Amino acid sequence: MEAKSFLSVEECRNVIDAIAEAENNCSGEIRVNIANNAGENVMESAVNVFYSLEMDKTQRKNGVFFFIASEDRRFAVIGDEGINNVVPENFWNDVCALMIEYFKKEEYGAGLVAGIKKCGEKLAEFFPPVDNDIDELPNEIAYEDAK
Ligand code: CA
Ligand code: CA
Repeated sequence: MEAKSFLSVEECRNVIDAIAEAENNCSGEIRVNIANNAGENVMESAVNVFYSLEMDKTQRKNGVFFFIASEDRRFAVIGDEGINNVVPENFWNDVCALMIEYFKKEEYGAGLVAGIKKCGEKLAEFFPPVDNDIDELPNEIAYEDAK
Protein backbone atom coordinates (compact mmCIF):
# COMPACT_ATOMS: atom_id res chain seq x y z
CA MET A 1 0.00 0.00 0.00
CA GLU A 2 1.34 3.40 -0.95
CA ALA A 3 2.22 5.80 1.83
CA LYS A 4 -0.30 8.41 0.76
CA SER A 5 -3.19 5.95 0.81
CA PHE A 6 -2.14 4.16 3.99
CA LEU A 7 -4.63 6.18 6.04
CA SER A 8 -8.05 7.37 4.97
CA VAL A 9 -8.85 11.08 5.15
CA GLU A 10 -10.77 10.43 8.36
CA GLU A 11 -7.93 8.42 9.89
CA CYS A 12 -5.48 11.22 9.03
CA ARG A 13 -7.73 13.68 10.79
CA ASN A 14 -7.98 11.41 13.85
CA VAL A 15 -4.20 11.09 13.98
CA ILE A 16 -3.66 14.85 13.71
CA ASP A 17 -6.32 15.43 16.39
CA ALA A 18 -4.65 12.89 18.68
CA ILE A 19 -1.30 14.67 18.24
CA ALA A 20 -2.85 18.06 19.00
CA GLU A 21 -4.62 16.67 22.06
CA ALA A 22 -1.45 15.02 23.38
CA GLU A 23 0.56 18.19 22.79
CA ASN A 24 -2.03 20.22 24.73
CA ASN A 25 -1.12 18.27 27.83
CA CYS A 26 2.68 18.43 27.63
CA SER A 27 5.60 20.36 26.19
CA GLY A 28 6.64 17.43 24.01
CA GLU A 29 6.17 17.14 20.27
CA ILE A 30 4.83 14.12 18.42
CA ARG A 31 5.24 13.55 14.70
CA VAL A 32 4.12 10.82 12.33
CA ASN A 33 5.84 10.00 9.04
CA ILE A 34 4.55 7.50 6.52
CA ALA A 35 7.16 6.26 4.03
CA ASN A 36 6.67 3.71 1.28
CA ASN A 37 9.63 1.56 2.26
CA ALA A 38 11.48 0.78 5.44
CA GLY A 39 14.94 0.88 3.85
CA GLU A 40 17.48 -1.71 4.93
CA ASN A 41 16.73 -1.27 8.59
CA VAL A 42 13.50 0.34 9.78
CA MET A 43 15.10 1.68 12.97
CA GLU A 44 17.98 3.32 11.08
CA SER A 45 15.55 4.76 8.54
CA ALA A 46 13.44 6.17 11.38
CA VAL A 47 16.51 7.83 12.90
CA ASN A 48 17.55 9.29 9.53
CA VAL A 49 14.12 10.74 8.80
CA PHE A 50 13.91 12.00 12.42
CA TYR A 51 16.95 14.19 11.67
CA SER A 52 15.77 15.08 8.18
CA LEU A 53 12.52 16.43 9.68
CA GLU A 54 14.67 18.35 12.20
CA MET A 55 12.94 16.60 15.06
CA ASP A 56 16.16 16.88 17.07
CA LYS A 57 15.71 20.65 17.27
CA THR A 58 13.07 20.78 20.02
CA GLN A 59 14.10 22.87 23.00
CA ARG A 60 13.69 20.05 25.53
CA LYS A 61 14.74 17.19 23.27
CA ASN A 62 11.35 15.63 23.74
CA GLY A 63 10.21 14.82 20.23
CA VAL A 64 8.54 11.43 19.72
CA PHE A 65 8.55 9.98 16.23
CA PHE A 66 6.30 7.36 14.63
CA PHE A 67 7.88 6.06 11.42
CA ILE A 68 5.66 3.81 9.32
CA ALA A 69 6.76 2.00 6.15
CA SER A 70 3.48 1.26 4.40
CA GLU A 71 4.68 -1.12 1.65
CA ASP A 72 6.95 -3.12 3.94
CA ARG A 73 4.52 -3.22 6.86
CA ARG A 74 7.25 -2.17 9.28
CA PHE A 75 7.30 0.64 11.78
CA ALA A 76 9.39 2.13 14.55
CA VAL A 77 8.71 4.51 17.43
CA ILE A 78 11.62 6.54 18.74
CA GLY A 79 12.10 9.40 21.17
CA ASP A 80 14.72 12.12 21.37
CA GLU A 81 17.20 11.89 24.25
CA GLY A 82 15.16 14.06 26.65
CA ILE A 83 12.29 11.59 26.69
CA ASN A 84 14.30 8.48 25.92
CA ASN A 85 16.47 9.03 29.01
CA VAL A 86 13.52 9.02 31.40
CA VAL A 87 11.09 6.37 30.17
CA PRO A 88 11.36 2.74 31.34
CA GLU A 89 13.55 0.62 29.11
CA ASN A 90 10.60 -1.33 27.72
CA PHE A 91 8.43 1.72 27.06
CA TRP A 92 8.90 1.95 23.28
CA ASN A 93 8.38 -1.80 22.94
CA ASP A 94 5.15 -1.52 24.91
CA VAL A 95 3.95 1.24 22.58
CA CYS A 96 4.79 -0.92 19.54
CA ALA A 97 3.06 -3.96 21.06
CA LEU A 98 -0.08 -1.91 21.63
CA MET A 99 -0.03 -0.64 18.05
CA ILE A 100 0.54 -4.13 16.62
CA GLU A 101 -2.72 -5.27 18.24
CA TYR A 102 -4.54 -2.78 16.01
CA PHE A 103 -2.31 -3.22 12.96
CA LYS A 104 -3.05 -6.97 12.96
CA LYS A 105 -6.69 -6.02 12.39
CA GLU A 106 -5.62 -3.49 9.74
CA GLU A 107 -6.83 -0.69 11.99
CA TYR A 108 -3.86 1.53 11.19
CA GLY A 109 -5.41 4.85 12.11
CA ALA A 110 -6.70 3.54 15.44
CA GLY A 111 -3.31 1.91 16.13
CA LEU A 112 -1.49 5.18 15.57
CA VAL A 113 -3.98 7.06 17.72
CA ALA A 114 -3.50 4.52 20.54
CA GLY A 115 0.30 4.82 20.28
CA ILE A 116 0.13 8.61 20.21
CA LYS A 117 -2.11 8.63 23.31
CA LYS A 118 0.23 6.35 25.21
CA CYS A 119 3.26 8.51 24.33
CA GLY A 120 1.31 11.67 25.13
CA GLU A 121 0.54 10.37 28.61
CA LYS A 122 4.20 9.60 29.18
CA LEU A 123 5.29 12.99 27.85
CA ALA A 124 2.78 14.67 30.17
CA GLU A 125 4.32 12.80 33.12
CA PHE A 126 7.85 14.07 32.47
CA PHE A 127 7.25 17.22 30.43
CA PRO A 128 4.23 19.10 31.78
CA PRO A 129 2.70 21.86 29.69
CA VAL A 130 4.49 25.21 29.70
CA ASP A 131 3.15 28.75 29.37
CA ASN A 132 3.33 30.17 25.86
CA ASP A 133 3.82 26.72 24.38
CA ILE A 134 5.08 26.71 20.83
CA ASP A 135 4.08 24.09 18.29
CA GLU A 136 7.69 23.26 17.51
CA LEU A 137 6.91 20.57 14.96
CA PRO A 138 3.90 20.49 12.61
CA ASN A 139 1.15 18.07 13.61
CA GLU A 140 0.44 17.18 9.98
CA ILE A 141 1.59 13.77 8.80
CA ALA A 142 4.90 13.80 6.89
CA TYR A 143 5.61 11.55 3.91
CA GLU A 144 9.40 11.46 3.66
CA ASP A 145 10.82 8.31 2.19
CA ALA A 146 13.40 6.18 4.00
CA LYS A 147 16.93 7.52 3.77
CA1 CA B 1 4.66 22.22 21.83
CA1 CA C 1 3.33 19.63 17.08
